Amino acid sequence: MATMITYGGPTVRVPVECSLCHQSCTTSARLYQEKPVHFCSVKCRWEFSSEERFWSHIVKTGPVVRPDLGECWSWTGRDLSPAGYPRMRIRGKRYFVHRLSYEKHVGPIPEGMNVLHRCDNPGCPNPSHLFTGTLFDNNRDRHNKGRDAFGERGGNTRFTEEQVRDILNLSATGLNKAEIARKYGTGRSTIWHIVRGETWRHISGING
Ligand SMILES: [Zn+2]
Ligand SMILES: [Zn+2]
Repeated sequence: MATMITYGGPTVRVPVECSLCHQSCTTSARLYQEKPVHFCSVKCRWEFSSEERFWSHIVKTGPVVRPDLGECWSWTGRDLSPAGYPRMRIRGKRYFVHRLSYEKHVGPIPEGMNVLHRCDNPGCPNPSHLFTGTLFDNNRDRHNKGRDAFGERGGNTRFTEEQVRDILNLSATGLNKAEIARKYGTGRSTIWHIVRGETWRHISGING
């Protein structure tokens, strides 16, 4: 075979591009021939491997929560925050997957802003379902969608009995109301009403 590369001889370095940032650098010709991937820095290597890992967990045929938005994406990783948001570890630090997805596809998240779900599905990293805003925006978005149109009392119709049991269990295990509210995409007061037995009393069994 006519090859310029000799095994066991002095290392032949060839100019290549970083597989992530495309900056030019050099690498061992032999290694590059075996695996044509090279990084200019440790940082690029980490970013590339986390990128690969990110996509390995994405499933683009998730549930349709809102027909007007199309399919949600799902995440196959197992690390969920108490409020039900998937997380991913990069160099020992945990990141929210929906925030990573927003940054990859849309751009940097403005300081102090939350990444919110149009689809109200905390497990969804589909960038077209994400927007940045404050929690106030989130509530207003929800309000505009008519979710709270019945007011706090009537709002209990939004939950299934199973969800109400879950809310009561979570509260009993000490999870705070804000976390539970976030998991269910509702207000803290709604959770309070359930936990105090002001709504859904037939499930909570709380009298008074
Ligand atoms: Zn690079
Ligand atoms: Zn979605």
